[in-house]
Amino acid sequence: MNINPERMWEDALEKLKTWARINSPWAIHYNSGSCNGCDIEILATLTPRYDLERVGVKLQGSPRHADILICTGPVTLQSRERLKRIYEQMPEPKFVVAVGSCAISGGAFQGCYNVVGHVDAVIPVDAYIPGCPPRPEAIIDGVVKLLESLKKTDSRAQSAENSAQTADSEH
Ligand code: SF4
Repeated sequence: MNINPERMWEDALEKLKTWARINSPWAIHYNSGSCNGCDIEILATLTPRYDLERVGVKLQGSPRHADILICTGPVTLQSRERLKRIYEQMPEPKFVVAVGSCAISGGAFQGCYNVVGHVDAVIPVDAYIPGCPPRPEAIIDGVVKLLESLKKTDSRAQSAENSAQTADSEH
């Protein structure tokens, strides 16, 4: 079996980075046109009463340091480019959570002259949390489900990689 020590360290570092990201993701919050109802619920979720930090999520000010983008509201014409720019500045792997009916479907603002539409009309969305506005418990539930699915995806990718390595070493 051929082992490349350089590659081994690179792989180990990648695995460590993925593990750290999944277990302690940093999130950025962006309001692309909401009425502020969803934003107030997100703030409540971060307070000690609901304490989103207990599942490892920390609110972050810069998209360059964030793993999760939490979006609220429909996307207005004015905020479309800003939303895209924030998404593009985030490092890979990155995930988007749409919070509230407006972020999911345009909600109460559907059809307004200044509204482009829902968030996934502009950037890809990984998790949807419905409600007008969703309660902090629903936001925590949505974020935890996203993290669980990321853990499963990561462990599936690792076992596929291990089987590929085993197959390589047998040839
Ligand atoms: S879902 Fe409701 S609370 Fe949230 S931005 Fe839309 S109207 Fe406001």
